[in-house]
Order: sequence, then structure tokens, then C-alpha cells
Amino acid sequence: MAEKIERVKTLIVGSGPAGYTAAIYASRADLKPLLYTGMEPGGQLTTTTEVDNFPGYPEGIDGPTMMVQLQQQAERFGTEVRIGMVTSAELSDEIGGIHKLTIDDSKVIEAETVIISTGASAKYLNIPSEQRLRGGGVSACAVCDGFFYKGQDVAIVGAGDTAAEEASYLANICNKVTMLVRKDYMRASKAMQHRVTSLDNIEIRYNTEVDEVLGDQVVEGLRMVNNQTGEKEDIAITGLFIAIGHKPNTDIFKGQLDMDETGYIITKGKSTKTNKPGVFASGDAQDKEYRQAVTAAGTGCMAALDAERYLATVETEKAVV
Ligand SMILES: Cc1cc2nc3c(=O)[nH]c(=O)nc-3n(C[C@H](O)[C@H](O)[C@H](O)COP(=O)(O)OP(=O)(O)OC[C@H]3O[C@@H](n4cnc5c(N)ncnc54)[C@H](O)[C@@H]3O)c2cc1C
Repeated sequence: MAEKIERVKTLIVGSGPAGYTAAIYASRADLKPLLYTGMEPGGQLTTTTEVDNFPGYPEGIDGPTMMVQLQQQAERFGTEVRIGMVTSAELSDEIGGIHKLTIDDSKVIEAETVIISTGASAKYLNIPSEQRLRGGGVSACAVCDGFFYKGQDVAIVGAGDTAAEEASYLANICNKVTMLVRKDYMRASKAMQHRVTSLDNIEIRYNTEVDEVLGDQVVEGLRMVNNQTGEKEDIAITGLFIAIGHKPNTDIFKGQLDMDETGYIITKGKSTKTNKPGVFASGDAQDKEYRQAVTAAGTGCMAALDAERYLATVETEKAVV
């Protein structure tokens, strides 16, 4: 028998810093939000041991603990948190229209407002030694983890603007940065290339890829391979940063929401409004620039305020008619 369709004022999709912050604000505004966690309850921060830059934690905190605390804070004000994936969506074009989202291909939730906080996933090389040492010196976020390698030798993989930006960030903190570029040129803009090449402690290795990350529990070195000659070379490093791009988790909204060429949801002006009335986007799903927990939380707050104001406007219009 088909399950009963539920209707909610606010449905929040995703349980990272953006989703839980939206939930804290929405529940305190009495929107009685329902939040679906997705496959990664707590989001990306559950894959890291130390978060040192989220305000309010003077001693730092481990990612999973921080996310449990955010969940508890959201639940304290009445957010209902459920395990489940949104597998498809039918978003209304009408002001005051009802959005229908399907959970795990079975249950349908009807929502007056939807806050999308589905984040983005960092791309990895997917070689066994890299996967084994994730969190042990392999990171996909230089701004988050670079500090832990202050004064040390590190390497970065990538050749685009983000890689160039992160390489120069690391060069300010670390002793030496070896940059591995797969082709014989960089994809980054000329300005970014200039920034990288003008820094003395960045060594760019063209036509070079990771053969193996060396180390048992933590990164101790890197075996590089020249993809033209097959020649291998080991260097001693303590950190390896992967900067080959991110993929926003927005496929289920493709064709309905305006997105850029990579799939980041486009929001209007300084708001979290999407092209569909009553649908808001927050966190890494709409932000390819900053991608930090605190910025995700900030836009989660904005999305809840935008949803609350939207619902108030719809109510007022109904009362006038
Ligand atoms: C290794 C690592 C270390 C980091 N360290 C730091 C740090 O120290 N400081 C910092 O500020 N930032 C750090 N970051 C970045 C930070 O984690 C992200 O910027 C932040 O988590 C983004 O929050 P978000 O809520 O937008 O998305 P995410 O945290 O990515 O959460 C997305 C959520 O959406 C859910 N979801 C996805 N698709 C669906 C669906 N279809 N249905 C339902 N749910 C769905 C997922 O299950 C997940 O819960 C780090 C990132 C990584 C990878």
C-alpha cells in the first residue's frame, strides 16, 4: 500500500553545517522543519578529525562531534531529523505552490518551502594509498588543513584556478610545495599561473602524476611518475593536497533549477533564492568560491530567513485575496 503523503512547511535536504544551521533558524521561527540527512549524516566534516577554524571552539573540535552538536541544537528547537535520501523532485513554478520530493524512491513529501543543502563532494584520485591515508595527511582542502603542515614540505595535485589558489595559500605557510600537473601546461588563468610561478617555494612538476602515497599511518612521502618517460621519483612530504575539483550534489534538481556548467545552483543576488519560488539553496551546493563550514552555516541561516519571509508573503497574499 502506498505511504500517506506528508505535507510540511519546510523541508531541508542535507545534514551538513548548512542544513543544520537552516534547521536551527527554521525551527526557532516555528516552521517545524523536517530534515533528511542523505547518505552522509553530518556531511563532509564527518570525514575530518580536526576543525580548528569554526568560531566558538577555542581548542578546536573533531568534525563528527561538531556535527552531532549541530544536530542536537537543531533538534532542541523541534527539527525532525530523518535518515533518507531525496531521490527525485518536482518543484513548483507557482508562488505558494507545493513542491513534491520523493524520499528513497518511495515516500513523497509535499513542502511549501525547500532548503537545498546537499553540499559538494571533493574529487579524489581514487588510488588505494591515497584513500588509505585520507585524514592521515591526504586532504582535499588546503584552507582547512594547510595550517597543520606549517613549516613542512607538502605536495598538491591539480592545475586549475583552485589548485593554483591553494598552492599559493600553502606556500605562505609551508616550507616547500611541490605541484603536480598532469599535462605539460596549467589550466589556471594566466594571472593565477603568474602567482604560482612567482613564488620561490613552489616547484611545478609538469607531466607528473601520483604513483603512490608513501606512509603507513600518516603521509611520509610521495612517489611521483613522469607520464611521458615512466620515470619514478620519491620525495619526502608530510601532507598531500588533492585539488582536482568538486562535484556539487545537485543532479536530482537538474533541468529544474538554474545551475552553472559544473552543477552549482545559481542563487539570486545576495539571497539564497533559486529560480523556483519557495526553493532556496545554501552551503557548498551553491558556493564554489569559499566552501567552508562557517560560510555554509551562514548561508543556511540566510535560507531559513528567506523561507520564513517567503511563507509570510504567501500568507499575506492569501489573506488579501
Ligand atoms: C576533509 C575535509 C576537511 C574539511 N575541513 C574543514 C575545516 O576544518 N573547516 C571548514 O570550515 N571547512 C572544512 N571543510 C569544508 C566543509 O566541510 C564544507 O565546506 C561544509 O561541510 C559544507 O557544508 P554543506 O552543509 O554545504 O554540505 P556538506 O557538509 O557537504 O553536507 C551535505 C549534506 O547533504 C546530504 N545530501 C546530499 N545529497 C542528498 C540527497 N539527495 N538527499 C538528502 N541529503 C543529501 C549529505 O548526506 C550531507 O549530509 C572540510 C572538507 C573536507 C572534505
